[in-house]
Amino acid sequence: MSVDRTIKLKLELPEKDKDALKQTMTLSNHVFNGIAQYGFDNHTCSKVTVHHATYYSIREKYPELPCSILQGIRDVACEALKSVELKRLPKSKQFSAIRYNKRVCNINLQKGTVTLASTKGRVKATFPIPEYYRRYLDWDLKTSTLSYNRQQDTFYLHVTVRKDSPQASGDRIIGVDRGIVNIAVTSNNKFFNSSQIKNVRAKYAYLRAELQSKGTRSAKRKLREISGREERFVKDVNHCISKAIVAMPYDVVAIEDLNSIRVQSRIKGIEFTRKLNNWSFYQLEQFMRYKAEAAGKSVIMIDPRYTSQKCSRCGHIYKGNRKGNSFHCVKCGFSLHADLNAARNIASVGKLMLVGCPVNQPNVACNEVEAYIGIETEHSYKSHSTSVS
Ligand SMILES: [Zn+2]
Repeated sequence: MSVDRTIKLKLELPEKDKDALKQTMTLSNHVFNGIAQYGFDNHTCSKVTVHHATYYSIREKYPELPCSILQGIRDVACEALKSVELKRLPKSKQFSAIRYNKRVCNINLQKGTVTLASTKGRVKATFPIPEYYRRYLDWDLKTSTLSYNRQQDTFYLHVTVRKDSPQASGDRIIGVDRGIVNIAVTSNNKFFNSSQIKNVRAKYAYLRAELQSKGTRSAKRKLREISGREERFVKDVNHCISKAIVAMPYDVVAIEDLNSIRVQSRIKGIEFTRKLNNWSFYQLEQFMRYKAEAAGKSVIMIDPRYTSQKCSRCGHIYKGNRKGNSFHCVKCGFSLHADLNAARNIASVGKLMLVGCPVNQPNVACNEVEAYIGIETEHSYKSHSTSVS
């Protein structure tokens, strides 16, 4: 299995080369429309058929269009026809993005240079590599897409890079429970919470309500600013938490599959706006995935059934076992912070998944020796210092 990522590079080019690329795009999209029309009229999306029918006439009519760009256009047109099952005619605009295959787009990620075929010969562009993308420098280069932003008069190259999926080398597994009060709790007894994030959210919720009731134009603008600031704050927090979790000495991170209906209804009941929570949970998941991938670790999704009702020591499942923050097993008397109990259940379901056992059985053996640690929280996350004004 392999993983693909697309990185977006901002190209720096002299004016005359920009013109060459604009002309290439315009012509490419014109040709695209012609090829798509042919496939649509003749009810085919076969690359071979379309190639034989259109290639030579296009070469003759537009000799300046490099033939490998033309092949790329044909492929994209056929794929576009296929994706709409030939029911609609796909159309490109003058500056729609165009595909460059490897032969016509010579990228050097290390040096930050690329040469692109154009109607006026090859053009050379440079690009800065954002820090965040440095991890992809040694990945395999796949296809690239050139896009043009008219307002900025700027070209972007979207490069797809591929790496064979790093199979986790070990089977040490950590379970992570995500929540509102505790943003994340891990099965090795770490609590990631922040009174700060709660305060920030409460403050923004208050401000939002105030501004919404005003409803003026400036209130609306202010509202947008506020939600942007709040998102940036949450993003920063999610970065810190995911980084800390992935750095822990485990190979596999197990989390609940949030698409599950059970989790959705659990989230719904909580007072904060669901939209923000969902968005924030998914973001934390994304960040953990990226970071795990880069560290040669993996993230697995588990069925969230029973994670909050099941005793992580004896496996007994009972709704009344959980009361707010505390979990108390009516069968064996085991007590634990409810989120930590959930995190341990997530880890044990993940363990079974790794060895290929059926995981939906209510009684999941847990061979860890549990000590009563009560509701003692370890504030491993409290020194966060983003200022919010
Ligand atoms: Zn129990």
